[in-house]
Amino acid sequence: MVRAAMARNLLVLRFSSVGDVVLTSGALSALKRETPDATITYVTKSAFVDLVRHHPAVTNVVGLAPGESVHALLARVREHGPYDGVIDLHGKLRSRWIAARTGARRKVVWQKRPLSDTVLVPLRVRRYRALMPIAARYHGAVERFVGKSLPREPLVYVTGAAAFEAAREKLIAKGVDLTRPIVVMSPGALWPTKQWPVDRFGALAAKASVNGANVVLTGSSLEADLTKQVRAIAPLAVDLAGALTLAELGGVISHARAAVANDSGPMHMARALAVPTLAFFGSTDPAQFRFDGHALAYTGVECSPCSLHGLARCPRKHFRCMNDLEVERAYELLEQLLRGPERAQVND
Ligand code: SF4
Repeated sequence: MVRAAMARNLLVLRFSSVGDVVLTSGALSALKRETPDATITYVTKSAFVDLVRHHPAVTNVVGLAPGESVHALLARVREHGPYDGVIDLHGKLRSRWIAARTGARRKVVWQKRPLSDTVLVPLRVRRYRALMPIAARYHGAVERFVGKSLPREPLVYVTGAAAFEAAREKLIAKGVDLTRPIVVMSPGALWPTKQWPVDRFGALAAKASVNGANVVLTGSSLEADLTKQVRAIAPLAVDLAGALTLAELGGVISHARAAVANDSGPMHMARALAVPTLAFFGSTDPAQFRFDGHALAYTGVECSPCSLHGLARCPRKHFRCMNDLEVERAYELLEQLLRGPERAQVND
């Protein structure tokens, strides 16, 4: 076991994705609280560096560039070594390979879920039920590393002043009146079964706009078609799809009074920023996360959840998990958030 006094230089690995990198943030805080003198180097993909760059527990961030070889990455990781310990919060081939070559005496590898779920759920032999929030699993890996139970820490995402200011300028340039409440809506998701239908996002955006909210649409450039469809129904909404870096997206969400998203990266960013968040869940299990102070729209139809990460199409063809989520109910939930505290309880 590595006791706090021995753990001077630590390496933490988590390559992707937006949500998972954000979900490691509470575990990083717990690690730092237990080993306050430790230097913590975090390795992730370069696209996600800004999610941890300003985390108070993190000393160095090493970003894996697109196309970079694992040998080149290892050389850069070693620049911050030698390491006393490695916490591999990715648990795949590449992270294990790097962890094994750091020379660290103490290593802990995280596991997202039981292997049987990873194999049997996609085959539809077994229904996936999260036994605990994913962030609690990251925390558990840190506890195994230090060899004792630790108090849980909330999610944290610090955007940094530059991203906050850049976001402000982009909002003003688009004519957003910052004195009125901003509602950020992110209608995209990695998989189609994780997306609330785009016409409903449009109807919700239209209703929120008419009732005085500044609706700001966000998404990657690949999701620009989705936000265009929303804007066709809600012309008062401002569309920033494809116009923001990841850090600026964090800055825009920081300016918001509320966020609306599917089970996606922006949902996790918003929760970690304590922005009251309305989250739509369909084919994936919301028990993977906590929503205290936020709002969860989930029908819990008998076939849900049907997948670990989402699917290209509904296997039952009715897509009731999302189609049964009505705009009126979503608006009620959004209104409740807008009437509630300006900042939500930050949790995992
Ligand atoms: S309706 Fe049921 S089967 Fe279809 S995507 Fe949703 S949860 Fe899966």
